[in-house]
Amino acid sequence: MAQNSHTGRIKIDRGCSFCGRGENDVEFLIPSPTGLYICDKCIDACNDIIFDHMSAENENPSRTLSAEALPTPHEMKAALDEYIIGQDSAKIALSVAVYNHYKRLLHNDMRRKLEAASRHKKDTDALPAEEEVDIQKSNVLLIGPTGVGKTFLAQTLAKTLEVPFAIADATTLTEAGYAGEDVENILLRLIQAADFDIELAERGIIYIDEIDKISRRSENRSITRDVSGEGVQQALLKILEGTVANVPPQGGRKHPNQEFIQINTENILFICGGAFDTLDQIIDQRKGQSSLGFSGDIKTKKDKQSTAVFKDVSAHDIVKFGLIPELVGRLPVIVGLENLDRDALVRILREPKNAVTKQYQKLFSMDNVELHFTEDGLQAVAEKAIERNTGARGLRSILEEVMTDIMYDIPSRKDIVSVTINRECITEKAAPILELK
Ligand code: ADP
Repeated sequence: MAQNSHTGRIKIDRGCSFCGRGENDVEFLIPSPTGLYICDKCIDACNDIIFDHMSAENENPSRTLSAEALPTPHEMKAALDEYIIGQDSAKIALSVAVYNHYKRLLHNDMRRKLEAASRHKKDTDALPAEEEVDIQKSNVLLIGPTGVGKTFLAQTLAKTLEVPFAIADATTLTEAGYAGEDVENILLRLIQAADFDIELAERGIIYIDEIDKISRRSENRSITRDVSGEGVQQALLKILEGTVANVPPQGGRKHPNQEFIQINTENILFICGGAFDTLDQIIDQRKGQSSLGFSGDIKTKKDKQSTAVFKDVSAHDIVKFGLIPELVGRLPVIVGLENLDRDALVRILREPKNAVTKQYQKLFSMDNVELHFTEDGLQAVAEKAIERNTGARGLRSILEEVMTDIMYDIPSRKDIVSVTINRECITEKAAPILELK
């Protein structure tokens, strides 16, 4: 390319308009419709610039996981221990599953980079053999009675990992076309939790509660939903497997003229939970132990079994319970949670970082009043929760019942130094013991 000093116009003499190499110095010279040319060497240089730019973008530290930044399963369990009492086998299984899940993400990231690099270098060689291994997702199924910490485990895990987290209730979901929520709305909740940062949402955790209530033989199903629950399972299967889903940005139903948010669910970790009542009978049957006997015996036996027996649960038992085999296949980590006994409930009242007794103590201290709970007072709260069959979920409301009156009085009374809650306060609604100035 040369500039004519008289006219000022660019004169093309069949050379690259970018580097100025002549036609004979390059392999290719590609013309543009406006009469300019670009040579193969300049195209390569442009590719380098674009590739470098994109790699730098991918390496944005807030987006990229690194093996060093990933907490080890031991560290994850330790973080869970701060908030959750007991459930050690669930904590260990979850920590390992989550660790492997994020390793899988790292592996996929690495593979994508290698693939991009080999495409860029026109490298026809295959990827190194170890990079070709496809690591499957380790979605988790938590089985255990209500209030034993299934949701809380998933929630605490997400907090530890600083990834967005959403909770969904499987019973509200319906197959498209029926009254109720579309499965995609679950994803919308995760997107909202990620402040509409799709890339972040694509690495989040979703907890789907009451998964057992959409079983094929569930008695608890909604009359507005499809008869079997199987349609919902199929819809869930798709997002659990990994798909690019179209999510209506306002929630609700999809309609044809709406713009959708696209989200890839391939790297979202799904944790499903359910009580799976009667699953113990299925497990017993498989193991050849029938629970026949005198009626009194059956109850006590069943109470004991309902937790211990879940340790032996197999995927086949869950299929027998009524989840479709494909869905069970996508939940390779199955974990049984234990019932919480009185001692565990007392520890829950007292020990976790945000234990409910600590919360009340904080509230009282803001009014300069000390709050004490006697050991037998806490035991009485635990016993009441067991009676009500609510697990740890009911602890707060039992305490709230006895605390309300005193919390009503304290701010207007300046003479109270301390308040003690004992067993009688819980069992007989006796007034708390006050120490006055
Ligand atoms: P579910 O098993 O029904 O999902 P949740 O996880 O929702 O039960 O538990 C309800 C509440 O009870 C939690 O928010 C938490 O405060 C408390 N809780 C349950 N299990 C535990 C536990 N093992 N350790 C500490 N708190 C617990």
